[in-house]
Amino acid sequence: MAGSVGLDRLTTPFGSAKNVLGGSASYAGLAASLFARPIIVSIIGRDFPKHALEQLTKRADLSGVKRQGKIFRWQGRYEFDLSSAITEKTDLGSLAGFRPELPESAKQAGFLFLANLDPTAQLQTLDRHIKLRGSRPFVMLDTMNFWIERAKPALTKLISRVDLLALNEGEARQFCSEANLITAGRKLLAAGPGHVIVKKGEHGALLFSNEGVFLSPGYPLETVQDPTGAGDSFDGSLIGFAAKKNDVTTKTLRQAMTVASAVASFTTESIGPDRLLSLNQREIAQRTAVLKQMVRL
Ligand code: AMP
Repeated sequence: MAGSVGLDRLTTPFGSAKNVLGGSASYAGLAASLFARPIIVSIIGRDFPKHALEQLTKRADLSGVKRQGKIFRWQGRYEFDLSSAITEKTDLGSLAGFRPELPESAKQAGFLFLANLDPTAQLQTLDRHIKLRGSRPFVMLDTMNFWIERAKPALTKLISRVDLLALNEGEARQFCSEANLITAGRKLLAAGPGHVIVKKGEHGALLFSNEGVFLSPGYPLETVQDPTGAGDSFDGSLIGFAAKKNDVTTKTLRQAMTVASAVASFTTESIGPDRLLSLNQREIAQRTAVLKQMVRL
């Protein structure tokens, strides 16, 4: 998977934290590692703190992570309803102009997750992975408002080439200039991907495909501290689950969404990735069972 690895500064109504491990590939990688061993492709600053990097080293192959230039830093804040992050500051650091280099180990990987990153770097990762493998992997893509505003033409090109697009409801509306989410889902499917997932935070996620619309609920949680990384850990666990099963049918993606909702719910229980780091299989299974029960008629 390719994405950002950096340091976050977070403020929520329940507390704040500085210099915590952050970035789309960090959260997605930690979540994917619960099901398969991810290979992370990214760039981190030269002086990236050891303690933050160690949290990833144990769980992922970091041979595609370059150490160069300045650290990527994101500063975000949430209001009381915690529904969406307010970006206070983004310092791209060495992520600006990042050109991915894929390690040899990626040759064996049949699943590619293009986590939130500059779409130009995402496109290069896709092309390089196809070249390295000699065939197309299954490709999942996520993005955010930052890139929709700055790089829409590259993003549109990329969307036409992926198998699964996952984005949150605000981004789906923004990308399609469309208020109705069902219409936005249909438009995104028409843009190329065989499956589109629209994430609705605490309300779960919708899956659009030519087999119709599926709703995976959000886990009913009363202990939310910080939603940072919930979307990325949803994505990471979803692709990890599919990779472990080596299957990408709609049926498997529905199951994967339910497991991913369970994993994402844990991510929100601490400021930064601490709760995700301590998560085990028994806890995931318990919440997945509750989610299944919630939608049984
Ligand atoms: P989410 O799962 O949507 O809450 O993603 C949160 C993570 O996205 C944070 O840990 C940030 O470091 C990372 N992030 C924020 N802005 C960007 C950006 N423009 N490009 C890549 N990653 C970002």
